[in-house]
Amino acid sequence: LPLLERVGKRRALAVLVYHRIASRDGHAYDKDVVEATPQQFDDQMRMLKKRHTVVAPDEIADIVAKPEKLRGFAVAITFDDGYRDNYTNAFPILKDHGIRAAFFLPTHYIGSRNLPFWDQVANTIRRTKRKTIELTYPSPVRVELSDGIDAAIRKVLRAYTRAENADVVRFLRAVEEACGLALPAEADDRQFMTWDEAAEMSRAGMAMGSHTHSHRILALLSRDEQLEDIKRSRDILVEKGVSTDFFAYPVGKKTAFSDTTIAVAKEAGYRFAFTNYGGINEPGRIDPMDIRRLGMDFDEDASQLRVRLALTRMTRRQAW
Ligand SMILES: [Zn+2]
Repeated sequence: LPLLERVGKRRALAVLVYHRIASRDGHAYDKDVVEATPQQFDDQMRMLKKRHTVVAPDEIADIVAKPEKLRGFAVAITFDDGYRDNYTNAFPILKDHGIRAAFFLPTHYIGSRNLPFWDQVANTIRRTKRKTIELTYPSPVRVELSDGIDAAIRKVLRAYTRAENADVVRFLRAVEEACGLALPAEADDRQFMTWDEAAEMSRAGMAMGSHTHSHRILALLSRDEQLEDIKRSRDILVEKGVSTDFFAYPVGKKTAFSDTTIAVAKEAGYRFAFTNYGGINEPGRIDPMDIRRLGMDFDEDASQLRVRLALTRMTRRQAW
């Protein structure tokens, strides 16, 4: 492994994207957004500090503007969606390691019991008494719950996130029908951080960016709807005193945003936008509105992450 790390001496910036740091046991919502337990996250941060340069959000902006500033292999940490465990579990660990991370907040959810569509769908599938789920929209999908609840949740969610053109409200109605149950109106206990928590993290050097207001897939919205949603989130972040020039596209796959989205994000005042379809950033070739990020796998221990980063650095492609 040290040999591999020496061979792949390429200068590059790897930006990792997490969603939740928590135990997966007894989880009532979507487990696929829980990438690490607090222990695993702590181990990963320790490894990154030992092996690489871990850069803060403002240093990412510097590297984009002045690529010569990037000496070796740098890693940055980001979080999407603003879950409560980002504050309770990740924040203390980041502080312990002296790491400053960026957090992308969908402003409709912060400080509320609102549930995003993936958690509503996961929770409803976990509660249904039906053995088979037959989804009719946006495409016909049939899943047997005996094959595993988590696999069923993943399959149903993909019907929407991979659709070329789909309406989230119609999709949610179809899930209710398929499960014979109403979606949860809100979470039993708060799933997202509060504005006070976001402000405390911001004072401690963490950067808060926008992840839109509603977390809808921007590519499926009109130009005006995109602008309205992105501006609304910016206004709220400014009002709460935690605004930055950073933005992350919801879902972040190539199909989740368009050239129009990029233009609209710039118009709303964002200078750096993060995607989520894999890859690392090579100095001099970084598009500030398409900063690549590496998704995290659940149950990846620190040594597996170390191998993945070494291979990714060498091949310039996300190893897995
Ligand atoms: Zn998100």
